[in-house]
Amino acid sequence: MSLAFDENGRPVLILREQEKKARLRGIEAHKAHILAAKTVASTLRSSLGPKGLDKIIVDGDGGVTVTNDGATILQEMQVENEIAKLLVQLSKAQDDEIGDGTTGVVVLAGALLQQAELLLDRGLHPIRIADGFETACDIAVEHLKTQADTFEFTAEDPEQLVKTCMTSLGSKIVNRDLRHLAEVCVDAVLSVADLERRDVDFELIKVVGKEGGAMEDTQLIKGVIIDKQFSHPQMDKELKDVKIAILTCPFEPPKPKTKHKLNVKSKEEFEKLYKQEQAYFTEMVAQVKASGATLACSQWGFDDEANHLLLQNDLPAIRWIGGVEMELIAIATNGNIVPRFSDLTPEKLGTAGTVRELSFGTTKDKMIVFEDCPNQKAVTIFVRGGNQMIVKETERSIHDALCVARNLVRESTIIYGGGAAEITCSLAVSDAADKHSNVEQYAIRAFANALDDIPMALAANSGLDPVGTLAAVKAAQVETGNSFLGVDCALKGTNDMKAQGVFDPLSSKVQQFRLATQMVKMILKLDDVIVSGAYQ
Ligand code: ADP
Repeated sequence: MSLAFDENGRPVLILREQEKKARLRGIEAHKAHILAAKTVASTLRSSLGPKGLDKIIVDGDGGVTVTNDGATILQEMQVENEIAKLLVQLSKAQDDEIGDGTTGVVVLAGALLQQAELLLDRGLHPIRIADGFETACDIAVEHLKTQADTFEFTAEDPEQLVKTCMTSLGSKIVNRDLRHLAEVCVDAVLSVADLERRDVDFELIKVVGKEGGAMEDTQLIKGVIIDKQFSHPQMDKELKDVKIAILTCPFEPPKPKTKHKLNVKSKEEFEKLYKQEQAYFTEMVAQVKASGATLACSQWGFDDEANHLLLQNDLPAIRWIGGVEMELIAIATNGNIVPRFSDLTPEKLGTAGTVRELSFGTTKDKMIVFEDCPNQKAVTIFVRGGNQMIVKETERSIHDALCVARNLVRESTIIYGGGAAEITCSLAVSDAADKHSNVEQYAIRAFANALDDIPMALAANSGLDPVGTLAAVKAAQVETGNSFLGVDCALKGTNDMKAQGVFDPLSSKVQQFRLATQMVKMILKLDDVIVSGAYQ
């Protein structure tokens, strides 16, 4: 296919002769897109909510991932279809921006497309449907804002944050240890949050998983933990009042920049070389010692010779520390990252109350913890779990809960979960549809129907009758005017989500509505698929 211009400068698309492109047009294209997107959405539908099922994904190498997180399921699924790929991006967009609600956004997009298909069958033009959805989305978002509750919290009383994080974690595999994990997440966010500016720097929270122990052993370490060990097994395992040199220069002799050959012909020459090398090491260790450091953290490795010298000189060291960890250590200990031994001065050293090595059970695994640091801002959530799969899923769930807590620190507004928000918006949107006299009213009403799909999915996944449950909850909302009535997924005997403590951040739900609508609009506006190079 190539682009050419005619004599008036208008662009013309030239398809090469005899090259039959796989091409779908018009309504056929719309239908094909909708089918692809619906298939992806239906895969996720059964994972929505506290009773949603998990998925096991097997990759090409036979590795398995068990997860309930929408974004992860889609990312690992390796979809081929281009429209299905858009849905993968949709859940990723929600993940990047908000962090939670990645399943819900795809289920909503699927429901919207299903409604769009019915309207297309009735002869509505895709653009009118897209416009109607846009209008309906604005109505829903505006209504949702009026139904949201703002709450106050303090670092001493973060109960509301904990409860909202519990809702997020409640639908994940980790729900066995709900309250504890939610408290760890909230504690982590509040430790690094700037409550005045209402900002949370995620760079300061590190999540480190280690197989073994129980999920209940997951803890917040107010300091930095790194997956390393002291460079020599005979070095002290616990250091107190530590002065830390944070180095990005290797403990090794300088290397020439170009390739060269060195011929050692005699024992004397070798000894000379060895002495020279030793002199370098001795000089480096002396420089570190002279600065007053009692621990050397190096981004690079060092060979056995240097390691031995460090031990002899009573200077514990850690090697091969990653760039991110180096920064975390520097921030926490208030030290400078030093690129040359000669630049090392006492002021540039970081300090920590304790640096200790942790060991686990009978395994050889070790970790090092920096605690009582002057700048406690950087914290680490240390995740434990019976096996690798649980640890990974716990890490993902913690990521979601951290995002929820961060979003609430930024904007302390919540709406009620369990489909309550969707039902109240659905009612508001269908009311508004009646006031539109043009054909868009059908699209607006269809949007309301699509919103109903979320509570129906929640009910279906909890083993309840979806239509009956939706009808009952909707009727109750209309009758009482309470927008906090939702689907009783946990079968606690009440639909009152306020009483059940099922909250979602407002920002997450608004983003879900907006992103799903945008994506569906985009799909509706595609009416031609030209697959370059594909023959029919
Ligand atoms: P997502 O990846 O979109 O966050 P989840 O599987 O976490 O999807 O499900 C979130 C949905 O489940 C939200 O609509 C939330 O309101 C609902 N939910 C979570 N916990 C409960 C509960 N205990 N009762 C009813 N609904 C709940």
